[in-house]
Order: sequence, then structure tokens, then C-alpha cells
Amino acid sequence: MKKRPLTLCIILLLMMISTAAMTASLSVTLDAATPVGEQARALTAYICELPPAQQEEWLEEISAFLTSQKTFFAQPATDREETIVYVTDKGQRYHSQTTCSGLKKAINISGVTKEVALAMGRTPCKICYPGGD
Ligand SMILES: [Zn+2]
Repeated sequence: MKKRPLTLCIILLLMMISTAAMTASLSVTLDAATPVGEQARALTAYICELPPAQQEEWLEEISAFLTSQKTFFAQPATDREETIVYVTDKGQRYHSQTTCSGLKKAINISGVTKEVALAMGRTPCKICYPGGD
């Protein structure tokens, strides 16, 4: 029983690191107004107050969360919906980079997620996506 808080802290530390990595790569925070470290500390304090049975539930939940994060980061960047692509106001394509020759004449280039580009009905540019996507 005495070992549990230490295990809990290690897992929370891992979660904090993982959340920080996620925040850095996706520019997303759980709550933009509060630093991630502070949120993790608050969560740690909250869990340590709980009865052991509930701590166990949290451990399982956190483990599941960590596993899902690992799966997410193991995917190639192009498979993530958060991949940023570039579109123009009138173009029918989306591009992987602003330096693409297909964007030479473009005036307004916007970076959007691939999900958004697809929702706009855009198809992959044949120059920057020779394989189709
Ligand atoms: Zn292109």
C-alpha cells in the first residue's frame, strides 16, 4: 500500500511529460489559462486525496491515456488529422508546403489542418503529393 503514491507520482510525471509534448507539437492545452505543470500538480494532489479504490481507477485511466498517446505519436505525421496543409482562396488543391510550385501564383495562402482542407473539398496537389496523398 505504501508504494502506491510513488507509482502514482511516476505515472503522473510521465503524463505531464506526455501532455507537455502534445502541447508543444499541437499547440493545444487542456486549459489555456493554466500552465500544464500546474494542472498536473493539481491533479496529483486531487488523486492523492482519494480513497485507494478510486486511486486504482485513476491509475487505470491514466495508463489507458498514456497508451493512447503512445499510439498517437507512433503514427506517421501524415496520418494525423492535425497535419497542416496549405490552401489558397480559389484553388482546388491542398499542398504540403508553401514552397510548392503549384502555389507560385497564389496570393492568399492559408495553413489549415488536413481535416479542414478535406472538408473544403480540396484534393491533394499532384506536385507535392506524387503518390496521391
Ligand atoms: Zn503542391
